[in-house]
Amino acid sequence: MSALPAPSSLPAQPRGLARPVLRVDPAAIAANVRRAGAVSGAAVMAVVKADGFGAGAVPAARAALAAGATWLGTATLDEAVALRRAGLAAPLLAWVLPVDAAWDAALRLRIDVAIASVAHLRAVAEAAARASLRARVHLHVDTGMARDGAAPADRPALVAAAAEAERLGLVEVVGVMGHLARADEPADPANAAGVAAFRTALDEVAAAGLRPAVRHLAATEAALRLPAAAFDLVRIGAGLVGIGPGLRPALTLAAPVVLTRRVPAGTPVGYGHTARTAAETVLATLPVGYADGVPRRLDAGAAVQLGGRRCPVVGRVSMDQLVVDAGPQGADVADTALVFGPGDAGEPTAADWARWAGTIEHDVVTGIGRRVERAEVGR
Ligand SMILES: *Cc1c(COP(=O)(O)O)cnc(C)c1O
Repeated sequence: MSALPAPSSLPAQPRGLARPVLRVDPAAIAANVRRAGAVSGAAVMAVVKADGFGAGAVPAARAALAAGATWLGTATLDEAVALRRAGLAAPLLAWVLPVDAAWDAALRLRIDVAIASVAHLRAVAEAAARASLRARVHLHVDTGMARDGAAPADRPALVAAAAEAERLGLVEVVGVMGHLARADEPADPANAAGVAAFRTALDEVAAAGLRPAVRHLAATEAALRLPAAAFDLVRIGAGLVGIGPGLRPALTLAAPVVLTRRVPAGTPVGYGHTARTAAETVLATLPVGYADGVPRRLDAGAAVQLGGRRCPVVGRVSMDQLVVDAGPQGADVADTALVFGPGDAGEPTAADWARWAGTIEHDVVTGIGRRVERAEVGR
């Protein structure tokens, strides 16, 4: 066995990334918060569910609050608890709650809860009585989605029960919320119908003697496109990372080239040999795969940016790796590929990946796996 040469006698090797990284741009998040606030004229709730749409819930929340957001929102109570544990003290609402949710944690940590049924209201009121605390609730009404708010037929009983629980000092009705199914199609009549349903619910709430401080219906698309849906507060989730009209993408997925090889025409590539090279070329392997959120089902056309060029994905995406065609000019180990980003350097965007995968940008960014390091840029 021959000894390795001393490191000093090895040729100098340019340094690249040690691992794939999702770069998070807090300035972009801040700009998106300011835009949503300016366009809607409403206060902004930063919705940092699903780990802040891939950006990291805590850094996304901090960037949004620094830019003027005054509320935080999450889907689950566990997500909200994690924000409190990280020291975030802003008003905070969670809305995907089983009837046996950890209401006591919500009470102790002053986490607001969205309540959509009498059963849920009873459960949180009982927890409040046990803890001698008052629960902060938002009545969640269905405004045309048949998903997570109280159905119109169930609303009067919910409003009456909430008024009674507030009179008993067990809950404080802080807000009323709805959600729109088709805000990305602003001319669709479902939007006006949703706004009207929300107004009807607000009238019922007022008639029951409740005076909620925040009425909120709009998420990102409605905040940017439907002035009639703005009310007091807009819930901005996808918009934080730049998904939505006129916003700035905040996420860039970069990966180092792990290995390159020059191959002749006709070389089969990857599992199943589903692709063969058309001509002599250089293939480059990247250390990201479907376990890292790169969609496995892709149209022809899927590509990364490498060496200033679009380099197509060749063959199947593996769990941990994918292969791109770097062309006859080639690529070097330690070169950095941009999988997606804002598009400033000609790289694909999350919207491109969504199109290639037959899905939406939200699915692409929330799919980025835990193995991918998150790093804030500009700090
Ligand atoms: C996810 C979610 C939001 C945020 O929606 P975006 O379109 O991502 O801004 C707002 N409200 C509810 C009820 C949600 O589930």
